Order: sequence, then C-alpha cells, then structure tokens
Amino acid sequence: MDIVKGNMGWIEVIVGPMFSGKSEELIRRLRRAEIARQRVQIFKPAIDQRYTATGIVSHSGLEIASELVSEAHEILLKVSPRTEVVGIDEGQFLGDGLVDVCTQLADLGKRVMVTGLDTDFMGRPFEPIPRLLAVAEEITKLLAICVRCGNPAVHTQRLVASEELIVVGATGTYEARCRRCFEPMLAHQKVEQQHAAHPSAPEGSPPAIKAQAASR
Ligand SMILES: [Zn+2]
Repeated sequence: MDIVKGNMGWIEVIVGPMFSGKSEELIRRLRRAEIARQRVQIFKPAIDQRYTATGIVSHSGLEIASELVSEAHEILLKVSPRTEVVGIDEGQFLGDGLVDVCTQLADLGKRVMVTGLDTDFMGRPFEPIPRLLAVAEEITKLLAICVRCGNPAVHTQRLVASEELIVVGATGTYEARCRRCFEPMLAHQKVEQQHAAHPSAPEGSPPAIKAQAASR
C-alpha cells in the first residue's frame, strides 16, 4: 500500500497454491512491521499444526510466534486494541466468518494480512477466500512451480485418496501442478480404486496409502 492517510486500516490477501511461498511472504511483511516497532499479532488455525503449535512455519522453516484459533471470530476476542497489524495464516480453515472479522479489524484502523488457498483440491473456488478477495485493498497471487513439467503452477494437486474438502498435509499429500498437468479428478479416482480393491475399507486406510506410495 503506497499512501495511507491517518489511521485507516486495510486488508491485504496473499493467495496461491500450496508450495507458492504464501507463509514466507506473510512472515516477511510481518517482520518488516516488527522492525518498524508496530504492534503485531499473528493467528493461525488450530487445525493446521503441521510443524509447531505456537508458530507459523513455512515449508522453508521460517518461523514467527502466533496464536491458535479454531474459527475466525475468536480473533476479535484476542486482538488487543493497541495492535496495529494483524496477520492471519491459512485463512481458508477459519470459516465463513473470516470476511466479517477482517472487515471489522480494517474498519478499526488495523492493517490486516491474510494468506489462503484460493482454490481447493479440485480447482474450485475455496470459500471464504474468494469473498475476501472481493473486499481486499490489495491482492498478491503467488505461483508455485509444477512438479511434473516446471511451468508456473496455480493448482494444489491432492495425491491421496480422500474427497474431504480439508485434508491437512504437506509433501506427499499434495504437490503443485500447472493447469496442463492438474488432475482435478485424481483424488476421486483413488477413492474409487480403493473401494474396488477393499470394499469394506474406510477412506485413507493404510493399504491404499501404501499401494499409492509404492506406485509413485
Ligand atoms: Zn505442468
């Protein structure tokens, strides 16, 4: 944001697929605010405890202390009136209330920064991030690199047999794919194969995961 007069808040959103560096970009912006002695608070969803319970950690290992919340409205209860900058990581896991919460914080004069997946494992808009983009002042869309061909990757390819909207995981569960290499039906096909091979087995059961690991 270039010129902001007075105590006006705003919303910045950083979107893109997994492995595009969203958390690293959020950490970079938050660190710069901290260097300028702005009061910063950082939140992340309790569902996403991939690496540590108290810090945002990007895949490269950068870390910054954060507070865990299970849904967006908890952020309003935890934000101090004196906080100037609010960072929210993995916003797609915080529910529909996210848009309202970010709007309220920006209206209070705070700079709000949110990262999130804008599309899901099938390439569909991943609410509430698309609605947040509509009300944001600034949007940064990052790309990853396609694991298959090296082209710019806009998609998060799910590699495991599950059709749940939210399956938290990193390397081995997902990979970045370009629009040419993206297979939106892959997770569905794996579930079908698994049911055919083990009619009574629940989704994500060990035999299917082993079979898939062996085939890669
Ligand atoms: Zn590709």
